[in-house]
Parts: sequence; C-alpha cells; structure tokens
Amino acid sequence: MMKKLLLLHTGGTFGMVPLSPEQTLVPAQIQEHITRYVPEIQKIADIDFQVIFNMDSADMQPEHWIKLATTIHDSMDQYDGFVIIHGTDSMAFTASALSFMLQNLKKPVILTGSQRPLAEIRTDARTNLINSVELATHPIPEVSIFFGTKLLRGNRSVKISSTGFQAFESPNFPPLAEVGLDISFNNNHLQPQGEFRFYPELSDEVIEVRYFPGMRADVLRLLHTDSVKAVVINALGMGNVAIEKSGFLREIKQLVDLGKIVVITSQCLYGRVDLTRYQNGKRLAEVGAISAGDMTTEATIVKLMHLLGVYGDNPEKIEEKVSTPLAGELSIAEF
Ligand code: ASP
Repeated sequence: MMKKLLLLHTGGTFGMVPLSPEQTLVPAQIQEHITRYVPEIQKIADIDFQVIFNMDSADMQPEHWIKLATTIHDSMDQYDGFVIIHGTDSMAFTASALSFMLQNLKKPVILTGSQRPLAEIRTDARTNLINSVELATHPIPEVSIFFGTKLLRGNRSVKISSTGFQAFESPNFPPLAEVGLDISFNNNHLQPQGEFRFYPELSDEVIEVRYFPGMRADVLRLLHTDSVKAVVINALGMGNVAIEKSGFLREIKQLVDLGKIVVITSQCLYGRVDLTRYQNGKRLAEVGAISAGDMTTEATIVKLMHLLGVYGDNPEKIEEKVSTPLAGELSIAEF
C-alpha cells in the first residue's frame, strides 16, 4: 500500500515565482504550482498538502517552530511521514528545534528547499522534493534535511553555501542516506528510545557571542540582563579564548556567578570542543563553562532554547542535559 505523507509548505526560494520576487503566491496557488511542476510525487506516495506559512526562512521565530511542531504532533497518527518545504537560511535551526520538540520520533520528518525556484530552469527544487518524498517513505525515524544528494541528520547540519546545490553538510556525523543511481542508506539513523515525547516549550533567553582576538571582555557585561539565561561562546579551536590579560576569565566567571549557563562551541566545523586539552580551555571549565562537545553552534543554541523552555527554573538539570544527547545531536564518546 502507498505510504501517506503530509507535505508542509513554509516558504523560501522553493515556491518563488521566477524573475518577479515581489510576486508571491497565495497558499492555494502554491499547491497548484507544485502539482504542476512535480506531478510525479503523487506516484511515490499519497500526499496531503498544507501551507502552514509562506515566508522567507530568515523570518522564522520560535513561535513558528512551535506551530510547525504542533501541526506534526497533531497529525502524527494520520501519516507515515512528513516533508517540510523550508527556506535554506534557517533550515538547520528549524531542524534542530523540531528534533528537540519531537523526541523519540517513530516516523521521518524531512526538511528540504532549494537554491533556485521550482519554476526556473536548472532548478534543484524538483529533485530535492522528489528525493525527499521518496526518502520519507523509508523508516528513518528522525528529523533530517535532504539537499543535493544527501539526507543529513537535521541537528547535525549546517548551511555551508549560499549558492551551491550541495548547501548543507553534517560535519561531525555521516549522512543518513546518499542518493545517486540508487539510494544508499547508512543505517545510522536514530533508534527511538521509548515513548514519543512532545515538548512545545521554547525560551528566547539565549545569546551567542563569537570570540575573536582583540575582542573586549567587558562587552560580556551587557549580558548581565535578566533576559539572558544562557550564553553560547563560539570560541577558537577546541574551545579556547584569550585568558592572559584579556579579562575574559573574570567576565565568564561573573556570568556563571550570576546564574547564567555558559556553553562553549567551536568556530571549527569539524571536530569538537575539549576543555581538558589546553590551559585556556581548562580555565574556562574551572570557572563553570560547559563544553558543547561536537554539537554544532546552531544545535547548541536551539538545545538551550528547548532546555530553558522545559526546565527553566532548574539550572542543574539544564547543565546535565546540555551534555546528554537528546536527539543524536552530540557524540557522547567525545566527552
Ligand atoms: N532567503 C531564503 C530563505 O531562507 C533562501 C532560500 O530559500 O534558500 O527563505
């Protein structure tokens, strides 16, 4: 029997009308547009279509993630899988958010989009959609991104190109599947651990600071405000910032003393943070900063939004969960 899928449209370049960016399609037109340009997806699965938003993904906010996750949660029993058409700009963040909000998924949720609109020649939208629909009929029960030729774990993905057709990579985790003449599955997808859990709560009290040599440490005092509960420091290499003379250590200790959760990510795409390897990293750990391990900065930010939303008044719990894989976003062996 044909699998039943829900195709959710959220916007992005995919559905844009070529050569007239000011002309946007109304929801009813989007379905017609997709059916006209990619009629064959109906041969792969029995597809229902829903336009949930029609926006540039740069406008995506936590309230949109909540609406998207709630829509998937509410229709979970009616479908075998979900495909989400989404702009590429914030796709890795949305994928991370959905992975934390919909834990222990039993069905595939695949985000896709395109660099060129569906109706343009040389578009990548057609193949991205066809492959996503095909992959959503397979038992890969997690939130993933299909783009170009690869199906990637969503919360391990980063957008690496604003123009290339292979716009995403998951540097610290092998693709879940690769599409060529045939589809090859790596059989490295998540195995659901227990009951499906829905967490619709998200907090926006997270900030990211990217460190660079010469950065003034006293700017971190701007984060003493109550509206910041967690600070992601995007640091050098394995998680290093200047310690000598810069005052950074004192300012980070001050943030921790004020009750902020401070998590260190790396500016390197590949590898991991290790706060035991260098003096600079060690000192950060000594004052209470936590390593993000091999999590992407995108996943770390969104994981903190999720953890603050769910355990807001319990910082010990949040600290423990930062270092615990919740949805395959972190390799535990690296700690
Ligand atoms: N700015 C667009 C978006 O993210 C780019 C795209 O769709 O690729 O919505």
